[in-house]
Amino acid sequence: MRTSIATVCLSGNLREKLEAIAAAGFRAVELFENDLIAHPGSPKEVRALCEDLDLKIITCQPFRDFEGMPAEKRVRTFDRAERKFDLLQELGTDLLFVCSSVAPDAQGGIDRLAADFKELGERAAKRGLRVAYEALAWGKHINDYRDAWEVVRRANHPQVGTVLDTFHIFARGLDLEPIRAIPGDRIFLVQIADAPKLQMDYLSWGRHWRCLPGQGDFDMVAFMDALTATGYDGHLSLEIFNDRFRAGSARSVALDGRRSLIALMDETQRKSKLAVPGAVKMPPPAPVRKVEFVEFAVDEGDRPGFEKFLTALGFAKTGQHRTKDVSLWGQGEIRIVLNSDKEGFAHSYQITHGTSVCALALNVPGAAATLERARALLDTPHKGAVSPGELDIPAVRGVGGSLLYFVDGTLGKWSEVDFVPTGTQATGTGLLAVDHVSQSMQYEEMLTWLLFYTSLLDARKTPTQAVLDPGGVVQSQVVESGLGIADATGFRLVLNGSQSHRTLSAKFVTDFFGSGVQHIALRTADIKATVAKLKEGGVDMLSIPENYYDDLEVRTDLSPAEIDAFKALNILYDRDANGVFLQAYTATLDGGFFFEIVQRDGYAGYGAANAGIRLAAQARLARPAIQG
Ligand code: MG
Ligand code: MG
Repeated sequence: MRTSIATVCLSGNLREKLEAIAAAGFRAVELFENDLIAHPGSPKEVRALCEDLDLKIITCQPFRDFEGMPAEKRVRTFDRAERKFDLLQELGTDLLFVCSSVAPDAQGGIDRLAADFKELGERAAKRGLRVAYEALAWGKHINDYRDAWEVVRRANHPQVGTVLDTFHIFARGLDLEPIRAIPGDRIFLVQIADAPKLQMDYLSWGRHWRCLPGQGDFDMVAFMDALTATGYDGHLSLEIFNDRFRAGSARSVALDGRRSLIALMDETQRKSKLAVPGAVKMPPPAPVRKVEFVEFAVDEGDRPGFEKFLTALGFAKTGQHRTKDVSLWGQGEIRIVLNSDKEGFAHSYQITHGTSVCALALNVPGAAATLERARALLDTPHKGAVSPGELDIPAVRGVGGSLLYFVDGTLGKWSEVDFVPTGTQATGTGLLAVDHVSQSMQYEEMLTWLLFYTSLLDARKTPTQAVLDPGGVVQSQVVESGLGIADATGFRLVLNGSQSHRTLSAKFVTDFFGSGVQHIALRTADIKATVAKLKEGGVDMLSIPENYYDDLEVRTDLSPAEIDAFKALNILYDRDANGVFLQAYTATLDGGFFFEIVQRDGYAGYGAANAGIRLAAQARLARPAIQG
């Protein structure tokens, strides 16, 4: 199957859309009629533009309210179809795309509609054109793909076929099994869209909330499995009406679109036993065994303060890079790289963003294979300068231009090659591992990065949660990978984005000059002991109001002594069906970064119930994280 996209998916004027589509590597496009009408050039000029960009126009859609018209309007309707045929021929394309009628006076009856399509097919055949029929979820008489196919089957004309559109099929919750019985060569086009499950009328849902496969809740692989069984080998064409995409960058949405189709074909091929024609060969998605290290870009001025902060958190400097101004810090299984080198990626990242997390390294079963998968998915590999004898760690560009490294093998192999041990061991404050990483980004980017992680890694997403910040609502999206692997901590990631400019996450993006890691949660087995040690070391913790603890007393059966201990240490409490979650936060560093300390006893979430309390506390305070 070949990839295609409808111009309606993207922002910009027609030329900008087509250029973005070609730049993403598409070779086929569905022109949306409104884009053509609003364009100042003639259809012939549009055809030439597409030829210049090496884009094949597969249709110019839609043609509405055709079938079932009463006798007095039927002649006029066929005249309209002939005019459309003229247009298609000027554009150099051959497919008339008919979506099911919503006209109030349209009449039903499968045989009546089949007769209309038979006549339309005959007229199309005279010009060497074809006709495809789609059931809209909100169509007056035909709103189920099985009925549209039955109309086509009874029209029994070689120039007439059907369209399958995943949005219209899933929106109505239709059974996918009957798809298998449709001959693949009678399916003239397949349109692909995912969507979040929402309680909404079909039209509003379909016009504003469609998204790329993998970004929503529909079982796209089950659809693709049924489609593959038909023998279909035509275009998979994205038709996405989404408010965020219309406000976003056309180039980025087009690239995401192509990535999503490549990932969908790959996932289908791996999960079904069928070979998907056109699927790109690539290694399977990798489960993340753990966060191998976190790299901070720190300039010389900030470094003494940051090192003091790490020391107070219980970290020790365990290694010094053989050739660069880079040091390695450790505690438990946590590895932090401090990069103050004057050359290279971290330095340029630091100049833009200040002291910040410039890279994450993920431990995966095969680092080279993960990079190969990233390339196949059109991600952007990064090649840094490597001195003789140093490891060349595979990397791709991630959120906000930061890096995502892939490391395989046992923990610390890379550190033995690149770092000279200092001989120092961390005494520690009981911190064991990275529990989760939180990245703040523009609201419009959230779907991009969700797709980036879920296509590349063996990862699952959980439903988006709305978190209340004093400055507005923050949307929070979790991605998890490798949590079930024995002897590994997996990778838990929280993506945050906000439409309000006054939330903490939006301010971070503004102050940071881009998207990036806003906090990292470190896990302990005994949060009370750990936080007590941090306080002794001079780490300033985020202060939680007394009202929170009064409320805990009312709504939980924690003992007063337990609540007093939490209050003294500013620890937040939550529980789910599986267990308890305890959290505390360091005060925020310059630039907006902070650490979270968590104790996770079987609990699966991220403390969303406490997020509003934490955000309000952070909004009140802007104190330095370390005293003295
Ligand atoms: Mg459609
Ligand atoms: Mg957190």
